[in-house]
Amino acid sequence: MFVVLKVLTERTNYALNHPFSYVYKGKINPQIGQRVLIPFNEKVIVGYILDIEHLMSSQEQYEKECGYKLLEIICLLDKEPLLNEELSKLAYEVADYYLSPLISVYQTMLPPSLKPTTSAMKKPHIAYETFVRCVNENEEDLTLKQIELLRLIKSVEEVNKRDLKSPSILKKLIEHGNVVEIKREKMRFNYASNTSYEEIHLTNEQSQVVEEFFHSNDQTYLLEGVTGSGKTEVYLEIVKRLTQNGKTAIILVPEISLTPVMMQRLYHVFKKEVAILHSELSNGEKYDEYRRISRQEVKVVIGTRSAVFAPLKNLGVIIIDEEHVESYKQDNVPCYHAKEVAIMRASHFEGCKVLLGSATPSLESMARALRGVYHHLKLNKRIYERELPATTIINMQDYRNIDYNSAIFSLKLRDEIRKTIDRGEQVVLLLNRRGHSTSMICRECGYVFKCPNCQIPLVYHQSDHLLKCHNCGYVNEVALRCEKCGSPHLMKIGFGSEKVENECRKLFPNAKILRLDSDVGKIKNNVTKILAQFENKEANILIGTQMIAKGHNFPNVTLVGLVLADLGLTLPLTRSSETTFQLITQAIGRAGRGDKKGQAIIQTYMPKHYAIVLGAQQNYESFFANEMKIRKLQQTVPYMYLSSLTITAKTEESAEELIVVTMQIVSKESKNKIICLGPSKPYVNLVNNGYRRICLFKYRDKSLFNDIMKQIMQILIKKNGISIKIDVDAMNV
Ligand code: ADP
Ligand code: ZN
Ligand code: ZN
Repeated sequence: MFVVLKVLTERTNYALNHPFSYVYKGKINPQIGQRVLIPFNEKVIVGYILDIEHLMSSQEQYEKECGYKLLEIICLLDKEPLLNEELSKLAYEVADYYLSPLISVYQTMLPPSLKPTTSAMKKPHIAYETFVRCVNENEEDLTLKQIELLRLIKSVEEVNKRDLKSPSILKKLIEHGNVVEIKREKMRFNYASNTSYEEIHLTNEQSQVVEEFFHSNDQTYLLEGVTGSGKTEVYLEIVKRLTQNGKTAIILVPEISLTPVMMQRLYHVFKKEVAILHSELSNGEKYDEYRRISRQEVKVVIGTRSAVFAPLKNLGVIIIDEEHVESYKQDNVPCYHAKEVAIMRASHFEGCKVLLGSATPSLESMARALRGVYHHLKLNKRIYERELPATTIINMQDYRNIDYNSAIFSLKLRDEIRKTIDRGEQVVLLLNRRGHSTSMICRECGYVFKCPNCQIPLVYHQSDHLLKCHNCGYVNEVALRCEKCGSPHLMKIGFGSEKVENECRKLFPNAKILRLDSDVGKIKNNVTKILAQFENKEANILIGTQMIAKGHNFPNVTLVGLVLADLGLTLPLTRSSETTFQLITQAIGRAGRGDKKGQAIIQTYMPKHYAIVLGAQQNYESFFANEMKIRKLQQTVPYMYLSSLTITAKTEESAEELIVVTMQIVSKESKNKIICLGPSKPYVNLVNNGYRRICLFKYRDKSLFNDIMKQIMQILIKKNGISIKIDVDAMNV
């Protein structure tokens, strides 16, 4: 008798998406869901036990039958299975729905130190902290990437090592002696707040929503509530009641650092029985939190997208706040959406519900709510009946609205900023683009400086005086001459949040100004710090990208300025009007959340565009009706499902050819029920020396699509030297 383990390797290619057999001769009994070390193609890698067979025959006999020699497992890596039965089942469902390799789903579900990957083995299980600081500013012999990081570290004095996102570059800086490490006893991430606040009694409208939620037997709910209508209190009440009845809850938010109020309230109510899962935790802390959850020591988990996989048992509700936000969809395989996964997962538990909340629900969710697929709940009133801010649209094309002092700030916006500051109130300015200038071009020949890896324009950053690629992170020095014609006459065009900041400092020299975007966010705790400073009124103006449009509550902000509202509209994407409308609505909702009335100013080159006009009016209903008509004409989401296939190959021709062949097969097999669009060249065309082509599929029948794509994969995995990405329910197209 001997034992055969069916093992998935850590490799995520589609071609290896099936178990391999290994013989196990160890003494400890293996269990499904444990990691193992295995020999694979002359290497030692990590595998995941999918199944165990106890065979009565001899190994020789077995090998004779299947025609190959079995290799032996090197060792077991875990004492217990990583995932319980329910989550293992979910992994299969997710892999099937999103047409992803099963191992990639396991890797997504687990925290860094527990992932079935070789690199996870080096990740710490205990939490400690290391800080770094710059001790030598000499940039000689450093690469540009190293200089970029050194300048960043220099600018902040001392920074937690885990907060820097480029460990290999940091290592080089340490070796060079530019930076030193300082070890510190770990400070536990702790929101346990001393801020006390009054008990809140739900308004009538809020309690009605809660009652309706509990009295219905439906599974999925969409809570549509204008900004400031008190959705957070509704979530908390629901979670409180469920946990009192022995159930558990998961709350998903777009970003933890942007929801300090919810965190404080949760800690206040649940103390040690709440766990957070999010990116600001170190790997050690993530491991701690994960173990605490799987030992069922907590009742509530709050976190970003992947917290939907938190190993709680007895789930009563999964809440998704700001359900329309794109960060709930993962960009790489498995390209899952937290909402779909939440719905799959809820069905594993008796009576478990999913609650989606938003002031501007995604079209898909609203369409489903109107068809009765989701139960529609509504909060119409702002708390204390606070008025929505007055809104003005400024046409930036009209020369009367601007003067030579600034091309970025209209006269009206400047005027209102000044008045607001004079009253001791605060201003939020939004621009959805970071960096200083959008691109650098040659005045003589029009050449645009582009990233050699991705072929997209490089963005000029003033803070470290470098050109950067916003896609792959490539950096280069600012050139003095055109790369093509050699002319020294170069100019920077367009503007980003950095330039807005500069101009703002020039126009309002006495104002204290803070900026928050993902550049500043590179040092992660900065986000929390800057938001806290602004909340404590240490600054008059906060400038930021969409990061600050969501969730946050600043009672003293009475003016919100959208510096350029139409940025998103210039992209030819299915959802560009929808995201623009959402951004405007969310941004306006930031103003006037306290006792004072707020106002919003929207600057745009497209003052008549319906997304802007209706966004300014906060008129979700009209926007929804209008946009649905357009989507119907375009035969796209939510009338049809929309998914994409990307193929990366060694040459442009082979990528193109493979996509064309795929499209032909799909059209034929589906009898044209699946509409194929393409091949098209994605904005970022060149990746790791591979060329990309993409095609879109539109269809009504999900299972037909699923079946045909599985056949397609069987064909594509036989091709050498290509990589494939399937994005089911793609959003960024
Ligand atoms: P939303 O998430 O819907 O935009 P919030 O949950 O942030 O709204 O609530 C807006 C504000 O109203 C918050 O400051 C919150 O503390 C307050 N609030 C919510 N519910 C109540 C209530 N029942 N009584 C008093 N204040 C409330
Ligand atoms: Zn030139
Ligand atoms: Zn690039």
